[in-house]
Amino acid sequence: MIPFRKETPKRRDIVTVVNKYSDHKDELKKDYKCRCGYCDDIDIWRTVWYEIDHFVPQRYLRTIKDTDYSNLVYACRSCNNSKRAHWPTGDESVHHKNDEGFIDPCDDEYDKQFIRCTSGRIVHQTQLGKWMYYKLKLHKPQHEIIWQIEETYNLINECKEVLKTIDSPIIKDRLLVLYEKYLDYTLKLSES
Ligand SMILES: [Zn+2]
Repeated sequence: MIPFRKETPKRRDIVTVVNKYSDHKDELKKDYKCRCGYCDDIDIWRTVWYEIDHFVPQRYLRTIKDTDYSNLVYACRSCNNSKRAHWPTGDESVHHKNDEGFIDPCDDEYDKQFIRCTSGRIVHQTQLGKWMYYKLKLHKPQHEIIWQIEETYNLINECKEVLKTIDSPIIKDRLLVLYEKYLDYTLKLSES
């Protein structure tokens, strides 16, 4: 088993007044380091845009404004769509009760709710984690697959320098060319 994620995202104390909450998207992407707050999938190998989730759903907001940065989470479409307006306490100030509800993904406690198999599959560790796991559908294969793609990407990066030192036409003419195309492709994906 391995930790659920390498780093807990930290939301800056941004108090800039904006017209609509989507104006915060670039700042959120920075704070979440391009990862979904809930599943930790990086946003490079996505098929659809990442979105903005209201941690406390809009319908339960009383004192928090829907544009308040402190209540926003950078989220993949899968987690955002799965979470929807689930908020069992019905109270904006009570995030969870009796092992039902959510923990803010910027809270270190969030990391204690889950762990990963060596394949990257997410596993719940607590009763509250189990509740979030099924509400967020963290069992979906895409989370394991994206984790594996990122691991492969990191491994390829580590291999790059080693490959350059090997004097072989196959490596120089084919593998390194393929590698450059792959890098170019992922760069375009991340910029699109
Ligand atoms: Zn997600």
